[in-house]
Amino acid sequence: MSEDHAAKLWDLLIIGAGPAGLSAAIYAGRGGLSALVLDKLGPGGQVAVNHLVENYPGFPDGVAGLKLSEEMGRQAEHFGAVMEVSEVTGVEIGDGRFTLSTEQGTRQGRALVIASGCAPRELGVPGEREFYQRGVSYCATCDGPLFREKDLIVVGGGDSAVWESLFLSKIARRVTVVHRRDQLRAEPAVQKQAFAQPNIEFLWSHVVTAILGEDSVRGVRVRHVATGEEREVPAAGVFVAVGVVPQTAFLPEEIARDEAGFVKVNAADLATSQEGAFAAGDVREGAFRQIACAVGDGALAYRSARHYLEGSR
Ligand SMILES: Cc1cc2nc3c(=O)[nH]c(=O)nc-3n(C[C@H](O)[C@H](O)[C@H](O)COP(=O)(O)OP(=O)(O)OC[C@H]3O[C@@H](n4cnc5c(N)ncnc54)[C@H](O)[C@@H]3O)c2cc1C
Repeated sequence: MSEDHAAKLWDLLIIGAGPAGLSAAIYAGRGGLSALVLDKLGPGGQVAVNHLVENYPGFPDGVAGLKLSEEMGRQAEHFGAVMEVSEVTGVEIGDGRFTLSTEQGTRQGRALVIASGCAPRELGVPGEREFYQRGVSYCATCDGPLFREKDLIVVGGGDSAVWESLFLSKIARRVTVVHRRDQLRAEPAVQKQAFAQPNIEFLWSHVVTAILGEDSVRGVRVRHVATGEEREVPAAGVFVAVGVVPQTAFLPEEIARDEAGFVKVNAADLATSQEGAFAAGDVREGAFRQIACAVGDGALAYRSARHYLEGSR
């Protein structure tokens, strides 16, 4: 199978099978373009770890993120897009084509959609890497069930942090949200749910300075941002939700990025600085990082790629 993938010159290569990449793939397949979607983890993206998506249109009672992403993947394959589980480690540009390096060889295409999304940002404190998967996690849905009736810490104050806290509050004895500000940044509706949950507490105006433990996590050290006072808070697990970093390290310099690493695009057509390459979803500069927007971006990137391909024939 992979050998066929290598021999072929695809109309469209899509890096990332989250909502943006899968949306582009659905449109491409339906529009008669040959499209290869590469994802290092398989179809899903960040949506797959969200236990309940409540704000994607069409699901008044919410939908499990895993189900939503599986259905998007199935829809893309139904229309003829081809999925491959492999990590793209480099992109070469030349001879009117894009050549992707993967652990299974190279893949060539005439146009490119970069939809590689974001990964969780690390706190960068002592103990974080040491205790990763021994109490430190970036995904409540994945690891929360390991902490039944335990005391947990969630670090952050945005939507993800509050969603993670709500999910964990159904499993854990107590969830303490450590946030460096004195109010949340999450959507008001989500905040309201968290404030109503009796076993969620908030430690305002504090930052985590270290994750403590021996074989596994036993707590965190926190510091008050104004007074500098430090203390320890016991916990069996620490869930970090302090933002994201774009997954763009594999891109060549022809595809310009901003200081934080997000791909620069022309907002009207999602064109990057490299002709024939488009960026969609969370990975692009200025995105409203939501599923609905990623899906819209995927459709627009497809249309732009299609125009490019028609013009370059
Ligand atoms: C915990 C959590 C809860 C969320 N809740 C909501 C919500 O309720 N509603 C909502 O609208 N949004 C929510 N979001 C945001 C939403 O999930 C994202 O906006 C959306 O998934 C972005 O889609 P994307 O396709 O741009 O990127 P992603 O979903 O990040 O997908 C990118 C894909 O690219 C792959 N990839 C990356 N680098 C490479 C590479 N080098 N080679 C191959 N593949 C690669 C990754 O494996 C990944 O599958 C949530 C996010 C998180 C983390």
